Amino acid sequence: KTALARAGAFSPAVTRDGVEVLVGANLGSVPDARAAADNGAELAGLVRTEFLYLGRHQPPTTEEQIEVYRSLAEALGGERLTLRTLDVGGDKPLPYVPQPPEANPFLGMRGIRLTLAQRDLLDDQLRAIVAVAYETPVSVMFPMVSTVDELADARHRLDRAIQLAGRGRPAGLQVGIMVEVPAAALKAAAFAPHVDFFSVGTNDLTQYTVAAERGNPSVASLGDPLDPGVLHLIRAVCRAAEGRCLVAVCGELAADEAATPLLVALGVRELSVAPSSVAAVKQAVRQIDRAADADLVRRALTAAGPRDVRAILG
Ligand code: PEP
Ligand code: MG
Repeated sequence: KTALARAGAFSPAVTRDGVEVLVGANLGSVPDARAAADNGAELAGLVRTEFLYLGRHQPPTTEEQIEVYRSLAEALGGERLTLRTLDVGGDKPLPYVPQPPEANPFLGMRGIRLTLAQRDLLDDQLRAIVAVAYETPVSVMFPMVSTVDELADARHRLDRAIQLAGRGRPAGLQVGIMVEVPAAALKAAAFAPHVDFFSVGTNDLTQYTVAAERGNPSVASLGDPLDPGVLHLIRAVCRAAEGRCLVAVCGELAADEAATPLLVALGVRELSVAPSSVAAVKQAVRQIDRAADADLVRRALTAAGPRDVRAILG
């Protein structure tokens, strides 16, 4: 890469009318964090902590986790780490978590539902997250939240972990939820007072909105995140968050450069993508003339389907 291209990769992503959009990376390993830093990521918008838990016979200890989270932060040069609590379930079983078989694992015990039921898993992870939050800016993000009660429960566990640490609240600690259940998107106003950010997980949000299992090739064509039904939900989140908290997108849609102007027009102010997509998404933000393009939003939301939305996006 030329020096000029590299300098571009590291400068912020600002629209032509001056709206800044944070561009972060999704991480599933320590090498991912290095790649994110090399590509100009401004934060880790999603750390899929599952990588620490899969393929072993017992959960990682708090100490092991601290070491790995620290390595991620170091590789990222001290940028903010958004640590998502363990997001496994019936489709991704762990040998050390007792789980009865389920007919519909995607509608069963997964994400925050599972870890609230397996408190030790959650408490050990929150202790590790809190320990690292005293050293580097950390956001904790809860997956698959569908009710405000679940968030209250999870926040309570987090407060307890902070209390146990005995050092007060870590200064840079932020708390947010993944919005990947349609009910959570529609209730965003009820969640907003209790979070610092929302991060829309368009992969699961799409699966649940169009009722098409992700990864099932027979229904793959239905699972398009540009389905106007999904876009209506993203708009609902952005409206509820306005003036209160940040809205990020960390699902695959965030890396679709054609969709960048629409997401920004809806009010999204952080995009988190695979490390290799960071530079291109920053570039897509810089090409936006007007961040608040109400006409683009109106046309996309009234389109008949994803194909029409794509045609509008050009
Ligand atoms: C999502 O659902 O969009 C998401 C980012 O989470 P994951 O792909 O890990 O389920
Ligand atoms: Mg998800």
